[in-house]
Amino acid sequence: MPKCSFCSEQYEFPYGLTVVLPDGKILYFCSSKCRRNYELGRIGWKTRWVKKRKKGKKEEREEIMKQAEEKKEKKKVMEKIKEAAEKAEKQTEQEKKGEEKKQAKTEDKQENKQR
Ligand SMILES: [Zn+2]
Repeated sequence: MPKCSFCSEQYEFPYGLTVVLPDGKILYFCSSKCRRNYELGRIGWKTRWVKKRKKGKKEEREEIMKQAEEKKEKKKVMEKIKEAAEKAEKQTEQEKKGEEKKQAKTEDKQENKQR
């Protein structure tokens, strides 16, 4: 993904414009707006609308990160609940097995007594 030489934003390839200067320098522009502003001699990070856009993006990203973290926490809680349920199931199974074993042992004893 090329990075816009003016607003330093990354964009997909079919969009935008790539300019190769005679001295071999390559300039990427995400839009004609960026190209024209560059040709006017403006500097990207000093231009007001670039700053504004970047600020908005940062806030967006932070929001997305927050949402992702909340989702992760929810997942963790769900996993804990699942684990607890599985443990409980295993315990009940073990208890059942133990009871069966006890019964088997008592049966064995009875057989021994009969002999
Ligand atoms: Zn741009």
